[in-house]
Amino acid sequence: MNAPAKTHTPSPAAREFLARRHQLFIGGQWLPAVDGGEIAVHDPATEAPLARVASAGANDIDRAVAAARKALGGEWSRLSSHQRSRLIWRLADELEANLDLAVELEVLDNGMPRMVAHYSIAKFGCDFLRYYAGWCTKILGETIPVSPQDVPNGESLTYTRREPIGVVGAIIPWNSPLVMATLKLGPALAAGCTVILKPAELTPLTALLLGDLVRKAGIPDGVVNIVPGYGHIAGAALAAHDGVDKIAFTGSTEVGKKILHAAAGNLKRVTLELGGKSPMVVFPDANLERVIPGAARGAFFLQGQNCMASTRLFVHEDVFDKVVEGVTRMANGFRLGPGLAADSDLGPLISAEQRERVLGYIAAGRDSGAQLVCGGEALPGKGHFVRPTIFSHTDMGMKIAREEIFGPVLCVQPFGDGDLQAVAREANRTIYGLSGSVWTRDISVAHRMVNLIDSGQVSINCHAAVDPAIPFGGNRQSGWGREFGREGLDPYLKTKATTVMF
Ligand code: NAP
Ligand code: MG
Repeated sequence: MNAPAKTHTPSPAAREFLARRHQLFIGGQWLPAVDGGEIAVHDPATEAPLARVASAGANDIDRAVAAARKALGGEWSRLSSHQRSRLIWRLADELEANLDLAVELEVLDNGMPRMVAHYSIAKFGCDFLRYYAGWCTKILGETIPVSPQDVPNGESLTYTRREPIGVVGAIIPWNSPLVMATLKLGPALAAGCTVILKPAELTPLTALLLGDLVRKAGIPDGVVNIVPGYGHIAGAALAAHDGVDKIAFTGSTEVGKKILHAAAGNLKRVTLELGGKSPMVVFPDANLERVIPGAARGAFFLQGQNCMASTRLFVHEDVFDKVVEGVTRMANGFRLGPGLAADSDLGPLISAEQRERVLGYIAAGRDSGAQLVCGGEALPGKGHFVRPTIFSHTDMGMKIAREEIFGPVLCVQPFGDGDLQAVAREANRTIYGLSGSVWTRDISVAHRMVNLIDSGQVSINCHAAVDPAIPFGGNRQSGWGREFGREGLDPYLKTKATTVMF
């Protein structure tokens, strides 16, 4: 049951990268932090130290903002949209050319299985950048057929232009670090903005690799600045900075609220991609051969450290036992181990702190009277491994069912025949509204449930269907705004209206 996978040794290329001096990438230069601060980075699978990385303080954020402001009015602003597009495309090519190293560093830093890192960086790293490279030439204004100030028809022209919002501070979490970075860079660069990226203190390595790739791609100095650092220092300084025009934040709801307060000083624009507690609702006619792996992967992908995770499984009582049994069999079959070991299905949690937090929720689940079906414990030895855990017969009054755990804990709750509204009410009984799914062969039930579930994304017979072209984001306290697709570009643009009198 959840046998640990074999260990691993990093490749020569990864060892060479790790041995480098890791500095801040500001104005196209690698610079030490002004106060000499550093962050120690560890492998969550072995707890071994990986590297020491410069940690930005408020002075470094000032330098990065100055570099980004200078670049905003420089060569970058004079490039044609075709030229901008080619540079973003080239960054995707550089990432693809360095995919093996990027994947390995991501796995060492974050702990995710190699296959997951490979798929996500290729799909949401490279494809995402290319998707937004294509948008550069398609950012359109409008002509508006009115005659302001009552000039005769045909004697004036009113049009709008979409301009870059300016300097963007991008603050990202540790759960999918490189992908998160590209999700911010793609639309920001397509819009013509300049960026200061603050990766999570726990996972700065692939962001630093990105600094190399930005340079190799020929993106002008200062357009992309990368400043690892602590959230309460570097992140807070960026969120409050008067020289920043917009914050694009992904992380917890709690920190999202702090970002809003910090942004009030200069009324900078804010988009927030926050937490989730997404429901998966299974009706008795659903195809259980798809439901069971869908539920197991939906809940335990990235060890549940995934904002879209289907952590609340609502199952009709007629198929409840069968579904719980099937998902439990899969959960018990996942092998836990370092992401670089070929036979690992699930990696470690990101840190000892996160492991303790998750174990605290598991204890609260036991205390609340939910039935522990499997898991419920950490693996002994090194690494922050927690066995995939299922609680059945939970109800929405319980803390484990309401709060985001961000770990491998699935709550399963039965429902009976009757009112779809009642099922949807349970599904909506959290502060979150990020993702969700409905599993049935009945198209009327499926679409009624889609209407009733209050989430930014509700899929039918699949969960978390994400693609660079599909808008993604949260309702209620899961966030403000949307990323991906055309909508994901809007927050990086501002509209200017111009009227010409002939
Ligand atoms: P977090 O604690 O909110 O941190 C996110 C980022 O904000 C990190 O870079 C962090 O720095 C920084 N930060 C912390 N305090 C700050 C402050 N006062 N001012 C400015 N920045 C600050 O989130 P996390 O623990 O890294 O990630 C897990 C959370 O992210 C979960 O809630 C998850 O649901 C959410 N998430 C959402 C999405 C989505 O698309 N909706 C995607 C992935 C994750 P440090 O590095 O020092 O912590
Ligand atoms: Mg944190």
